[in-house]
Amino acid sequence: MLQTIITLAYLVAAALFIFGLKRLSSPVTARGGNRMAALGMLIAVLAALFEEQILNIPELIGGLALGGLIGVLLAKRVAMTSMPELVAAFNGFGGIASALVAGAEVMRYAGREEAIVPFTPTLALTIALSVLIGTVTFSGSFVAYGKLNGRIKSMGFPGLRLVSIAVGLGVLAAIAWMIVSAPDFPGLDPEAVPLALAALAGLAFFLGIFLVLPIGGADMPVVVALLNSYSGLAAAATGFVLQNYALIVSGALVGASGLILTTIMCEAMNRSLLNVLLGGFGAEASGGTSTGDTEERPVRSTSPDDVAVLMSYAGSAIVVPGYGLAVAQAQHEVREMAEMLQKQGVEVRYAIHPVAGRMPGHMNVLLAEANVPYDQLIEMDDINADFPTTDVVLVVGANDVVNPAARDDENSPIYGMPILNVDEAENVIVLKRSMNTGYAGIQNELFFNPKTQMLFGDAKDSIKGVIDELKELQPA
Ligand code: NDP
Repeated sequence: MLQTIITLAYLVAAALFIFGLKRLSSPVTARGGNRMAALGMLIAVLAALFEEQILNIPELIGGLALGGLIGVLLAKRVAMTSMPELVAAFNGFGGIASALVAGAEVMRYAGREEAIVPFTPTLALTIALSVLIGTVTFSGSFVAYGKLNGRIKSMGFPGLRLVSIAVGLGVLAAIAWMIVSAPDFPGLDPEAVPLALAALAGLAFFLGIFLVLPIGGADMPVVVALLNSYSGLAAAATGFVLQNYALIVSGALVGASGLILTTIMCEAMNRSLLNVLLGGFGAEASGGTSTGDTEERPVRSTSPDDVAVLMSYAGSAIVVPGYGLAVAQAQHEVREMAEMLQKQGVEVRYAIHPVAGRMPGHMNVLLAEANVPYDQLIEMDDINADFPTTDVVLVVGANDVVNPAARDDENSPIYGMPILNVDEAENVIVLKRSMNTGYAGIQNELFFNPKTQMLFGDAKDSIKGVIDELKELQPA
């Protein structure tokens, strides 16, 4: 009876994960989806505790309270621009948890009586995969974490690729050692399994470091999405080891969705995953240095007052947010300015590029935080046709996602990346602090276009200036 209830609870949890994930696909339902998946996880945890008879209430409450407190503190304190770091750390912990649980099963199974399933070579392979993927995810994620917050600047050392290949071969040998040492495998020593496992874990730890080290800091969000997928695969493998269906389902969901996200990010940047993993691009660019050949050319500067006048006389305006909006934390000011303009009869909408910012959905999250109505956020494919009939485009801290070189210049490193065609609008105003480049490290012809005016300064200060002038202009 208890077992039936537990199996049903796993089924309910799996259904909640799937429907929760589905609801994450729209900002309107995303919060509810998150809560739904969290409820599924609570049910799965409770079912697992009952199944394994781990019912020491004080310890459980203590663990829940401590873990919950750390989670709440981290989530409250993390800045929106540091979110990829937090996700990297979570992935790392997820990976190592799977590896540790699978590794602990070896101690339970290897050559001992209490094994609930026979310790076959297949089981040895499954445990090996879980430990391998989980440990690579752990060390790789913490290198990604260090690169994202700038503490790790190293791109490796000469001969790193050869060393990685050697370590990779060592990993294969350790897996083979584990399989042939499984007690069901005739003629070899089962006592060697823990030793083979320790060798595998050690090698996998270094493999994770060596794989992520040569990748440029600016490519880390893609790497984090991929590692997220790995952490799911490690969990699914551990689910097979434990024969736990909820873990298999949730691991497979994380594995698949992480891979889909990685593919979407690569496509939106027009890069192949191999190109990201082999490193090189964006490695030097994340600091935002300007390229030499174009920086001497004149650009048209403007002032908050002129921008306010231009925008209040416009019929239609499109705001294009980018990474600089996140840095300046100007989302509340942008919403306030848009509302003032809308009250004056200006049609204001927001154009959302899929990879604007530094993480998927970055702009949606920021603007949702400032309570910008969802129906004013228009995806790139749906708004691109409207730029030629738009009076003013206000580019707030975006650069690469509005760079016409991606469309027109075959020699550009970002050629082929889909962009927002803001240069087709009547007037373009670009808010940024300097002529520095963005993530891709290349200059932007848009800034030198005769219809473009540059409003230099921190985006928040600039928008505040525009709001002040709009207040002056509005009849009391
Ligand atoms: P970019 O990185 O191209 O440009 C951001 C611009 O913001 C900079 O040129 C910078 O100029 C400006 N800026 C920075 N701080 C401020 C501030 N306080 N006030 C005003 N402006 C500021 O951003 P985009 O959003 O246009 O493009 C995103 C890039 O990131 C793309 O190349 C994409 O491929 C890449 N990427 C995106 C990921 C994602 O998931 N979204 C993941 C990985 C990469 P200045 O210094 O002069 O102020």
